[in-house]
Amino acid sequence: MNDCLFCKIIKGEIPTKFVYKDEDVAAFKDIHPLAPIHILIISVKHIPSIVEVSESDIELLGKLIVVAKKIAQDMDIAQDGYKLLFRVGKHGGQEVKHIHLHLIGGAQLSEDIHPVD
Ligand code: AMP
Ligand code: ZN
Repeated sequence: MNDCLFCKIIKGEIPTKFVYKDEDVAAFKDIHPLAPIHILIISVKHIPSIVEVSESDIELLGKLIVVAKKIAQDMDIAQDGYKLLFRVGKHGGQEVKHIHLHLIGGAQLSEDIHPVD
């Protein structure tokens, strides 16, 4: 996917400091953090969203969560807790069409899941 922002990040076309990277998963700080800690955990493989995942992606999706857990431990927020969030499509507010798990924490977080009027 030539025009995908997160594919460009993975390929090194957009300079990014990774907090985690292996052959399947990469993670980096969100450029517009919603909380003191806001990390995006993404698949190396281009998958547009949760809508497009299949049975063959089960291991990969599990790995995104396990990597999120490890980063939360490394950043010392596991004890106090955090949010893990996939936005999906228009109603979910997804802007970047490459699967990513938000890890958000470092402070008490609000409920923040309300229909727009
Ligand atoms: P979403 O709304 O779930 O698609 O989330 C996309 C996230 O990507 C937003 O929180 C953005 O702030 C973040 N973002 C966009 N561009 C970059 C970038 N170059 N580096 C890091 N995060 C980014
Ligand atoms: Zn992509």
